[in-house]
Amino acid sequence: MNSPALVVESYFDGERYHAAGPYTIRIIDGVIREILPGEPDSSSTTRNSTGDSIVAPFVMPGLTEAHCHLFLDGAQLDPQVRKKYLQAPFSQMLQVGWKNLQANLAAGITLIRDAGDLFGVNTHIKRELHRHRSLIPALRSPGRAIRKTGRYGGFMAVEISGPDDIAPTIRKIAATADDLKILLTGIIDFAHGKMKGDAQFDLAQTRLIVQTARELNLRTYAHCSGQEGLQIAVAAGIDSIEHGFFMSREILKAMAQKRIAWVPTFAPVYFQFARPELAGWNTRTLERLDAILQQHFEMVAQAGAWGVPVLTGSDAGSCGVPHGTGLIDELFFLLKAGLPLEKVLAAATAAPRKLWGMAPANIAPGNAADCVALAGSPFQNVDFLRQVRLLVRRGEIFRPEDWRCPPAVPAAAAGPPASVSVDP
Ligand SMILES: [Zn+2]
Repeated sequence: MNSPALVVESYFDGERYHAAGPYTIRIIDGVIREILPGEPDSSSTTRNSTGDSIVAPFVMPGLTEAHCHLFLDGAQLDPQVRKKYLQAPFSQMLQVGWKNLQANLAAGITLIRDAGDLFGVNTHIKRELHRHRSLIPALRSPGRAIRKTGRYGGFMAVEISGPDDIAPTIRKIAATADDLKILLTGIIDFAHGKMKGDAQFDLAQTRLIVQTARELNLRTYAHCSGQEGLQIAVAAGIDSIEHGFFMSREILKAMAQKRIAWVPTFAPVYFQFARPELAGWNTRTLERLDAILQQHFEMVAQAGAWGVPVLTGSDAGSCGVPHGTGLIDELFFLLKAGLPLEKVLAAATAAPRKLWGMAPANIAPGNAADCVALAGSPFQNVDFLRQVRLLVRRGEIFRPEDWRCPPAVPAAAAGPPASVSVDP
């Protein structure tokens, strides 16, 4: 096993910034053994691994993408092409998925939580990563999400027709799921600045969903915006609220008390605001989008102040949100909301791993080495967040562009289901 040392000028350990470098981070058998002030005794610093030293200006734990759809290409902006893609062969979707995985690594993301796809690209990729013993990236996948029959989420969720359907459906999903994704509401009607339709599940049904998931050791995360849905989510004890537009202080208080996480996903809504011509939004809709975003910034600032566990997720795969860079944009949105950089980086590193019951990746003795080296410290210039140099996983140090996805596997002929209602 390799035993490299990282010699860094500064590092973020997952919660705090250490700027009195140089430091030598010694990794033995893939585990961080010690962090010493100064450079190592040996004068030889080379770019080779096995026992040598790697010099990097700055390291931090690998980033977390808490909400993305690996099978969707967020850079594809044409609604017709996006719609047609949902009828594409599984092999094509798989290719898109692997490409997106690579884009995540290139952005320094080493932990991904997919947020659902109907076709099973997420589950397939997870299985392949396991099969090839790939330690990086770590992928959590819900497989398929759940939604109410006929409601929003056809491209990512199976349908639940009534209360009797809830437990059997979740049991079926649980076989390959790490978490349970729930479509609790519809999407936002930007033109009118409100939610489309009512909540997909009422409080009693949502409680049953959460309870069933808990019995199966699944955490729950809900696509949820608007007061009605948010109240149901909080009362039912959902573990994480995704998107959460039209948030209120009352809801945030309850989330802080119950330690319910929030993944605010600014990126897809911001894209609508930044490129109104694509959807043909008029001035009035633009004003509504602006108001929605401003309120979201305020609520995220409040969440930070009250200690609501905010996590970083971009909804990459959505229209206008590319994988990898989308997550870095999301970090900048949290900064814009007023969260300090240490909090933003903790939301992207230590916090999700802790909330999801995973081994910590904090840069501290005893933890497995799972980190990313940047070209400089983001505490000096935040743009360094976009300049990933190396990834470190266990004893291996590599450039993200050198990572190879497991050899292509003959894709199952499983095409998409016959009818799919769409709005990614
Ligand atoms: Zn999503």
